[in-house]
Amino acid sequence: MPLNIAIDGPSGAGKSTLAKRLAEKMKILYLDTGAMYRGIAYYVLEKGVDPADAERVKPLLPAIEMKVSYDEAGGVQQIIINGENVTPYIREHRISFAASTVSKIPEVRLKLVELQRQIASECDCVLDGRDIGSYVLPNAGTKIYLDAKPEVRAERRYKELSAKGQLNGMTYEEILADVNKRDYQDMHRDFAPLVVADGAVVVDTSDMNADEVVKKIEEIVHCK
Ligand code: C5P
Repeated sequence: MPLNIAIDGPSGAGKSTLAKRLAEKMKILYLDTGAMYRGIAYYVLEKGVDPADAERVKPLLPAIEMKVSYDEAGGVQQIIINGENVTPYIREHRISFAASTVSKIPEVRLKLVELQRQIASECDCVLDGRDIGSYVLPNAGTKIYLDAKPEVRAERRYKELSAKGQLNGMTYEEILADVNKRDYQDMHRDFAPLVVADGAVVVDTSDMNADEVVKKIEEIVHCK
């Protein structure tokens, strides 16, 4: 059976940095499942549909053929929808909340979960998301719940957007409000909400840097 490491937690807890570095060190795949929800959100917005309007989103789903590719950009995961690489567009701030909103729709989740389970059944991988340990892969070999104080997560997001020149005038306070709003929505949806999965090890990264987080998680992975 392939090795699956599930990393869940709220936005800005450091999941993707950790998952990327862990996968690199262990020479296994990194599956960023948030990018898949972002891809759907981008597609829905491009069609002029409100991501909150489930009755208009659902009919769009059968026409979406999503592929997760590692063939381009030096092996970095790319999201391809109906042949178009949407990866360059899905990191924009406007997509974050749209992804959270569209991800409340069970039909959206079921479509992506099927693809996530298929990839996880075929190769050793680190997956990060919100429901990996609790819903997608409840039998994953290692489950981590990465957390941090909202203020710390918002500060990380602020610095990240600032470094990319994508702040567009947003203040730290606005980003903190957005982070809290998105996490509330992710934790309170009916279907596969963000929870600490049974058997998950909770790690609070508020006072840790990326190196310390990787070291800590490596200890947990190797203790298994
Ligand atoms: O991880 P990231 O911030 O890119 O995820 C964007 C959104 O996608 C999250 O806020 C969440 O609502 C949704 N998501 C999810 N389940 C996952 C991964 C992401 O619901 N496994």
